[in-house]
Amino acid sequence: MLLRHTSEKIQERKALTINPAKTCQPIGAMYAALGIHGCMPHSHGSQGCCSYHRSTLTRHYKEPVMSGTSSFTEGASVFGGQANLVQAIDNLFTIYDPQVIAVHTTCLSETIGDDIPQIVSKAKDSGKVPEGKHVIHCNTPSYVGSHVTGYANMVKAMVTYFAQNSGDKNETINLICGWVEPSDMREIKRLSQMLNTQIILFPDTSNVLDAPQTGKLQFYPKGGTTVDQLTKAGDSKYSIGLGKFSTEDAAKEMDSRCGVPFSVLDVPIGLSATDRFIMEMAKVTGNKIPDEITDERGRLVDMITDMQQYLYGKRVALWGDPDTIIPLTEFLVDLEMKPVYIVSGTPGKYFEKRITEIAGDRVEGLKVKGGSCADMFLMHQWIKNEPVDLLIGNTYGKYIARDEDIPLLRMGFPIMDRVGHSCFPRVGYNGSMRILEGILGCLMDRLDRDAPEESFELVM
Ligand code: SF4
Repeated sequence: MLLRHTSEKIQERKALTINPAKTCQPIGAMYAALGIHGCMPHSHGSQGCCSYHRSTLTRHYKEPVMSGTSSFTEGASVFGGQANLVQAIDNLFTIYDPQVIAVHTTCLSETIGDDIPQIVSKAKDSGKVPEGKHVIHCNTPSYVGSHVTGYANMVKAMVTYFAQNSGDKNETINLICGWVEPSDMREIKRLSQMLNTQIILFPDTSNVLDAPQTGKLQFYPKGGTTVDQLTKAGDSKYSIGLGKFSTEDAAKEMDSRCGVPFSVLDVPIGLSATDRFIMEMAKVTGNKIPDEITDERGRLVDMITDMQQYLYGKRVALWGDPDTIIPLTEFLVDLEMKPVYIVSGTPGKYFEKRITEIAGDRVEGLKVKGGSCADMFLMHQWIKNEPVDLLIGNTYGKYIARDEDIPLLRMGFPIMDRVGHSCFPRVGYNGSMRILEGILGCLMDRLDRDAPEESFELVM
């Protein structure tokens, strides 16, 4: 009983968060920055913050994650970090030779009030930024928002700093990618290719955070959206943001700076959200949906139909990032499961509204909460009052799973105690089959474990 202090009695809390369903902004900014080719993220704050951000990403992706830090000590904490950042920019370009340095702030540098654009222009004026190289930035105060907010801020910065409208529009579609795994980004590119669509996907962490082992040290892996692509994105015909929380700001910025119209969809997780993605791509390009994609959809529908009896009515608790949970909830409802308890630490009223729209009258007893007090403690209390059959979320749920003896499907960020999440996609029809396989594996393992001898079946 690791969580023995979780009580059944639920009291309204306004200020205290226990076991938050989120982490800090700079982690998202760092992840997004790694989706630019040849980019060195840089954390403007203390070494401790930077170590935490890097280690969280490394534990999830099982890859070394590099980043510079302004290494604040007492002096910088009191007088500001200008000298540290100018020195860091000089060191990074001289020693590590990145194409781009992507600076994000931390709680400390935000509280001091360091003006990053002013510091960067000082570095440029003093010749610390070589010709053809770039320094971009975003503000990521972690006492507001979450890692998703930090991701969104850095994706928006990519547009602000790079996108240009040359006046010569082309047929390319910008796919502004929400926070998904490198394998998911690869899958989105595969689907776009099948749809015969020229895209610019950004950010793109495929071949960066799932780079192959070649035996050679490669400081900047071959993946990532190039600066050239980010610049040309301003000439594209249309932008599709995948995930309102992580991409809407960037899509709006692209429209206002470069006049690229946009729509924002859910991340294509599950049947309905993938349908909408494919239909939208077909609509904006005028291209026909190929039979191969229709076949992939058909295989997912077939698996759902075949296994319906194991799914129907099963109660699920889920937590994590809104852009993942919203389409996942819809998928569970499509499977005729009951996603009853849903929390996300990322603030934003849209989350509760959208979940209620999706699940409201189809899920009796739905409890959904977003924001800082929407924590794992609250979800555990709900479970204690009325249990569920399945948990879906990140590694932080394993304590609840163990204490309450409920199967856990790991999905979301961070997953620190399993592998595979960054290698096998969970978007698109094929990815949704993998989610379904995971759900069924959990439920059928439990059936086998609990079955009395007389009903223990070889063929289930
Ligand atoms: S919450 Fe703030 S102080 Fe803590 S690691 Fe994140 S940026 Fe640093």
